[in-house]
Amino acid sequence: MTSNRPHKAIVIGAGIGGLTAAAALRRVGMDVEIHERARELRPAGTALSVMCNAITALRTLGIDLAPELEKRGRSFRDLHFLTREGRPIRDMPFGGIADRFEAANFAVHRADLQQALLSVVGDDCPVHLDSAVTGFEVDGREVTVLFADGRSATGDVLIGADGFHSAVRRQLTGPERPREAGYVCWLSTVPFEHPRFTEGFAAHYWAPGQRFGLADIGQGRAYWWGTKNMAPEAARSWSGRKNEIAAAYAGWADEVRAVIDATPEDTIVSVPAQDRPFLERWGYGPVTLLGDAAHPMLTALGQGAAMAIEDAVALAESLAGAQDLPRALRDYEARRRPRTRQMVQASRSLSRIEQLDNPLAARLRELYFRFTPASVFEKQNASVLTYQSVAVS
Ligand SMILES: Cc1cc2nc3c(=O)[nH]c(=O)nc-3n(C[C@H](O)[C@H](O)[C@H](O)COP(=O)(O)OP(=O)(O)OC[C@H]3O[C@@H](n4cnc5c(N)ncnc54)[C@H](O)[C@@H]3O)c2cc1C
Repeated sequence: MTSNRPHKAIVIGAGIGGLTAAAALRRVGMDVEIHERARELRPAGTALSVMCNAITALRTLGIDLAPELEKRGRSFRDLHFLTREGRPIRDMPFGGIADRFEAANFAVHRADLQQALLSVVGDDCPVHLDSAVTGFEVDGREVTVLFADGRSATGDVLIGADGFHSAVRRQLTGPERPREAGYVCWLSTVPFEHPRFTEGFAAHYWAPGQRFGLADIGQGRAYWWGTKNMAPEAARSWSGRKNEIAAAYAGWADEVRAVIDATPEDTIVSVPAQDRPFLERWGYGPVTLLGDAAHPMLTALGQGAAMAIEDAVALAESLAGAQDLPRALRDYEARRRPRTRQMVQASRSLSRIEQLDNPLAARLRELYFRFTPASVFEKQNASVLTYQSVAVS
């Protein structure tokens, strides 16, 4: 490009990664257009954790998401690991690491996270809804995106932030099959009160082949999720009733049974646990991927959203001031591959340990978590929760 006009980025998907990419790329002076398949901006799913590495990554661009999340969600310091009956196994102190970065970890409803991200994107960024991408064409250094209704849009770079079933990725890789982890996740959010459900409460309850998570997401609401091992086909097509979920948690801690009981049946979402084989090539020319489109991961580490946010920041860092945009995109991909590969693999390993079916193996897992020195976990957590920035000129 020889003119002085700003470079134009076409971002596909107004999810966590797409919105953050829009905010980050605008910060480094690019024009951004977002195209989203949904007819309205209503996030699918329930709630999630946004860990402190996402907050510190955004700060490198001068974006502070913490006040918005403080207002809309809930920060938490410790994650309690408990037995199914609610007896302590170990507390994972995430607060100390967050303090080191003067940041915090948050549990937040997806709709609240979306509002927080929209507030940093800015009102004047075009967000085109009902725009389902079907493919793209690269012509020299320009890229044209094609939509299902026959429209098209042209820009200098294309960022595929279109999630797990990314159409941009499909054109890059051809058809792929997800990798099935062999369990289902049930999720919901609900107004909830319970003596054990204190401010900033975040806990995982463990039993053989089954887990439960319960977190305070602020404004008197709880986020809960449960998992249960089953054959991949059964996990994909699960369409049971709330009483089957309640039966799966009979005999568990009182707050677990109470939160399921308090949840309207039609708000419970069921998803199979899936990721994909790690992709070593995320794009070519002016095209790249970001977030779940690039590296979908199992939920065990609670880092999917933070990785999408880190990607967006790294992308803006690489594109800041760049004239050779394809080269800047390859630089971004090279920087992000090692960290995201590690997260995909670590999430898989942790997920295998957490879903252990065999009661003896599950007991050994508990003993390992109970007696491993704190310094071992601190080192692992510090590595996960640290964002390595490069200076933006
Ligand atoms: C059960 C479950 C629990 C999770 N819990 C956590 C957690 O606690 N912490 C955490 O960090 N992560 C968690 N994750 C992962 C997290 O949700 C994802 O990593 C994160 O949403 C990725 O963001 P993204 O922007 O890449 O994709 P998404 O948020 O999925 O956004 C993709 C967007 O692209 C749009 N889109 C899709 N196809 C097209 C198309 N063809 N054209 C235009 N637009 C399109 C979609 O409508 C969507 O808006 C969880 C995931 C699951 C399934």
